[in-house]
Amino acid sequence: MSENPFEFMFKSLDSFSRCAQTHISNFLSPLQNKPSLKDKSALLKSVDVSLASTSFTKEKSATPLTKEELGRGTWALLHAIAAQYPDQPTRQQKRDAKELMAILSRLYPCKECADHFKDVLKANPVHAGSQAEFSQWLCHVHNVVNRSLGKLTFPCQRVNARWGKLDCKDRACDLQGTPDLK
Ligand code: FAD
Repeated sequence: MSENPFEFMFKSLDSFSRCAQTHISNFLSPLQNKPSLKDKSALLKSVDVSLASTSFTKEKSATPLTKEELGRGTWALLHAIAAQYPDQPTRQQKRDAKELMAILSRLYPCKECADHFKDVLKANPVHAGSQAEFSQWLCHVHNVVNRSLGKLTFPCQRVNARWGKLDCKDRACDLQGTPDLK
């Protein structure tokens, strides 16, 4: 694996973008008023357009990332990590989750965002005792950032519907966790 965590993040974005389409498709299916096939395909088309802005195609790689694209890609990676996080993480995995957030607050390639995130972490220390705890904590801090930018907040009870486990055959993407030894 690359030594630079951001290099790793961006290499992962293409596949997350593709996985997101599957998740959004799953997310849309239980919508009330059961949209017709035509409505559904129109919705998915608009999703495709917005995902195209986070997809790193050959043409796109020639233009610099915007702060918004960087943010969307980073949140996608973080929510995917939280979705795959084990129910019973090892001590090392808990340390890694905390360290990942601390590294982001130092190395995130947008100084105002990194500085702001440092304050967010100070006020909201990482909770990574389990998958549910970590994904709810992440949803909460994402909402803190949303609020500071004047955006709508996301209902955290819907976080698994929006960012469920990756669509990997035979759950091959699941991380192994073990209870801490006493
Ligand atoms: P994003 O906020 O990027 O969210 C992507 C998708 O995640 C949304 O479309 C939605 O479906 C889903 N979502 C939204 N909220 C939640 C939630 N709470 N839980 C789960 N899913 C959710 N930008 C700045 O201008 N200033 C900053 O200080 C700043 N700080 C940042 C700090 C960090 C750590 C990160 C990762 C990004 C930061 N950004 C900042 C970028 C900013 O948060 C957005 O990513 C960017 O503005 C694009 O926003 P968006 O509306 O497309 O959706």
